[in-house]
Amino acid sequence: MKIIAIGRNYAEHAKELNNPVPGVPVIFMKPETAVLKDNLPFYHPEFSTDIHHEIEIVLKICKEGKYISEKFAGNYYDEIGLGVDFTARDIQTIHKEKGLPWELAKAFDNSAPISVFKSKESFQDIYNLGFSLNINEKTVQLGNTKDLLFSFENIIAFVSQYITLKKGDLIFTGTPKGVGKINVGDRLQGYIEKEKLLDFEIK
Ligand code: ZN
Repeated sequence: MKIIAIGRNYAEHAKELNNPVPGVPVIFMKPETAVLKDNLPFYHPEFSTDIHHEIEIVLKICKEGKYISEKFAGNYYDEIGLGVDFTARDIQTIHKEKGLPWELAKAFDNSAPISVFKSKESFQDIYNLGFSLNINEKTVQLGNTKDLLFSFENIIAFVSQYITLKKGDLIFTGTPKGVGKINVGDRLQGYIEKEKLLDFEIK
C-alpha cells in the first residue's frame, strides 16, 4: 500500500506559503509506515520544531489501474476519509531552498493520521464537501472540495499515467489554507461536514 499526496491543490494555501499555483499536480509520496490509525496519539518527533497540520480529504483506491482516463476515474475510488498530512515545515523549507526532495519533511513515521473511510455514496455531494480541522476546540482550517484546483478524477488520471494505482492505496488530495504548527498537548479534531472523523492528541 502506498500514499500519494498532492501539494498546492487549493489556491489560497499555495498563496499562504508563497508558492505559485501549479499548472500540473505536484505529487509526493508517503510510505506505509506513515499511517497512523484509530485516533492514536501522535508523538512529536525531535528532529523538527515546526511540524504543520494539513487537513485533507483522502480517497481510497478500490481497484488496480494504469493510464486511467478522467472519464472513468470515479470507478477507481469507492471510499472517502479524512487525513492529516503532517509536514516538518522547517525541514521542507531547507530542502525547497536547495531544490532537494521533500521526503524527510513529509514521509516520516506516523506523518499520515487517517480516519475511518466511508462509502462515497454516503455523502450528498463529494464535489461540494466541507471539511475542517479544530485544534483545542478552535477551527484552524476550513475547506471545501469545490475549491480543488485538480479534481479527484483529474488527480487519478494524472498520477496513473506514471504510477500504477492498487487497491488500498490512498490519495491525499491537498490542504486548504490555515496550516500551522502543532504543539505537544494539542487535541486535533477533524470533520467532514458536521461529522467528527478524527480526534487525537499530540504527545
Ligand atoms: Zn498536504
